[in-house]
Amino acid sequence: MNSPLRYVRPNILALRPYSTARDEFEGGNISVWLDANESPYDNGVNRYPDPHQKLLKARISRLKGIAEDQIFVGGAGSDEAIDLVFRIFCEPGIDNAIAITPSYGVYQVAAATNNVELREVPLAEGYALPAEALLAAADAHTKLLWICSPNNPTGNAFDIARLEQLADAFGGMVIVDEAYVDFSPKGSMLSVLHRHPNLIVLQTFSKAWGMAGLRLGMAFAAPEIAALFGRVKYPYNVNGPTQAEVMRRIDMGAESAIREICAQRSMLAEALPQVPCVQQVFPSDANFFLVRVNDPDGVYAYLTEHGVIVRNRHRIFGCAGCLRLTIGTPEENRRLLQLLNDYQ
Ligand SMILES: *Cc1c(COP(=O)(O)O)cnc(C)c1O
Repeated sequence: MNSPLRYVRPNILALRPYSTARDEFEGGNISVWLDANESPYDNGVNRYPDPHQKLLKARISRLKGIAEDQIFVGGAGSDEAIDLVFRIFCEPGIDNAIAITPSYGVYQVAAATNNVELREVPLAEGYALPAEALLAAADAHTKLLWICSPNNPTGNAFDIARLEQLADAFGGMVIVDEAYVDFSPKGSMLSVLHRHPNLIVLQTFSKAWGMAGLRLGMAFAAPEIAALFGRVKYPYNVNGPTQAEVMRRIDMGAESAIREICAQRSMLAEALPQVPCVQQVFPSDANFFLVRVNDPDGVYAYLTEHGVIVRNRHRIFGCAGCLRLTIGTPEENRRLLQLLNDYQ
């Protein structure tokens, strides 16, 4: 089997990571910590956190059924992992990446920040996966293929089997961004990760788990790729309170919130097409709907005037006339429907 390490930038392969004070001792019965120039006065946050997030990764490993050495966690959300992927694989000014469009805007920003060309391939009819066009967009300098599933802002998830075929056919790393996977009936690529050494799966605690304020994102990959994330990341990239709080909230579970949002999704899927100003409601595997309306700017301004903010996607490629509506509480969704029904 071909090692995915052949897609890595040579300088990253050769990198010797910064060794923190906490890396250089091997455990033991330490009671006096004089190695890291911290304050000795205990105020709850005076010590540096675990740079390897061992307890948190063990907890995530149990939650996801993926080995600890295949997990990266980032304290700036999955946006941190997106930037690291460009830095690990793409030689600035030389290598390029491919993404679907419309999709999540951060791939474009991270590519531009790293001086990497992003080749955007339009989704097919019905926002379907344009598998052949994606493969055709690649050349000898293509390192990455970005797929968001369920896709933001269209809301649809792609079939696992189709994504697997794409991963098998593509000569580079395939990154599947699963920020909304907890809402999707199509399931996660984590179940097939072991079959694809060139696959990276991104997930986050920001959406279904209700922890957007904590900023914890995850990447899952073959051990040799996950190790590279560990080398390139900032040493203490997840703060101590976040590590503890995420573990506490994983134990609390997210099932009831997910069930409630999926029930509201079914309700809205029935109700939104009845709204007079709504032309089309795209099927959603996520916690939002892309909806085509008459006069999107007018509807957007009207909702804002009435204290309801949605995302105007009218000027995004492939989304003319569309607003993106996040599914809220039952009460919030009723308010949204009432306002939309009253719009003239
Ligand atoms: C919201 C979102 C993310 C961002 O997740 P964070 O972990 O909060 O950074 C990543 N990808 C997609 C597609 C998203 O919609």
